[in-house]
Amino acid sequence: MGFSTNAIHAGQKPDPTTGAVITPVYLTSTYAQEELGKNKGFEYGRKHNLTRQSLEANIAALEKGKYGVAFSSGLAAIHALMGLVRAGDHIIVSDNVYGGTYRLFQLIMKDFGLDFSWVDTSDIKNIENAVRDNTKMVFLETPSNPMLILTDLEAASRICKSHNLISVCDNTFMSPYFQNPLTLGIDIVVHSETKYINGHSDVIGGILLTDSSDIHQRLRYIQNAIGAVPSPFDCWLVLRSTKTLAVRMERHNSNAVAFAKFLNESGIARKIYYPGLTSHPQHELAKKQMRGFGGMISADLGEAELAKNLFKNVKVFTLGESLGGVESLISHPATMTHASVPKADRERMGITDGLVRFSVGIEDIEDLIADVENSIK
Ligand SMILES: *Cc1c(COP(=O)(O)O)cnc(C)c1O
Repeated sequence: MGFSTNAIHAGQKPDPTTGAVITPVYLTSTYAQEELGKNKGFEYGRKHNLTRQSLEANIAALEKGKYGVAFSSGLAAIHALMGLVRAGDHIIVSDNVYGGTYRLFQLIMKDFGLDFSWVDTSDIKNIENAVRDNTKMVFLETPSNPMLILTDLEAASRICKSHNLISVCDNTFMSPYFQNPLTLGIDIVVHSETKYINGHSDVIGGILLTDSSDIHQRLRYIQNAIGAVPSPFDCWLVLRSTKTLAVRMERHNSNAVAFAKFLNESGIARKIYYPGLTSHPQHELAKKQMRGFGGMISADLGEAELAKNLFKNVKVFTLGESLGGVESLISHPATMTHASVPKADRERMGITDGLVRFSVGIEDIEDLIADVENSIK
């Protein structure tokens, strides 16, 4: 089945009792058991919920994976991955990742005896060079937040296989519509559903996808044991949203391509970071492993004052954290999403005080361009 057909039908069939076409919200914490040791496969709400199971099957189909395990946030999903390693283990991480991932690993999990190496995974040799005897996992984010740096997933997964490491890819920026890391050999895909998958800025959620039944069984155990499960209503909202993921992503992409072209030609930015521009150093890799370039663009305006001015004057764009919703957002990584990254590390990665991140929504592109043009004037 094609992507849109799966988006609308996978994991969902009409309700057997009423024929309701849309999967109901199963708001129940427990289930009646027929007799001791006999039930319908549902025991307790943290462990079993049909709305959640439908969502997990739905997104697994979109990521071309066998199994999905849903969580109450993207970070809860990433935290659950820590159940696959032990104190004393070493994890290699892309050095430019979502700020919350950095905070979880470096400021929380490190104190539990895990060791993290932050490397520039855009050069695959750096992964190989960072491998130690106790390395267990490689955590990649591509394209990365906010610098839109890519990692060659096929090459990275080959290195991981040869060293027997669990490979993970945070695929939030691309959504399953534009990139499927499992098909490139990656073991586990992470999504913050909060972003493109839900796309309407009204749910916090996360999910892990895998093809490995061993990894799936362990993650399923962790999901119940730790308990950071999403509410049935949130699952229902995300399930509603995946139905339009394909059409939303097409529009995010065409708007962002046009918006990046405008930024490029207007000369208002010193530097533009967008994999869809031929000036992006990894444009060829983007075309190889992605089916589109997505809706995220970063631009360095040079002066922090210029960025501040833009934030103050925009009327269609909203100044705010998050991304991937139907509405366009603008943000300042240095003081917002990446504030917990030390300043020296930020500047080394290009997250300057003049860096602005655009999440290009699905409004009329003419209005988005006019908004920024007028604000700069
Ligand atoms: C937002 C985000 C997360 C965290 O997800 P939450 O749902 O906010 O917990 C992880 N990775 C990336 C790339 C994100 O953008």
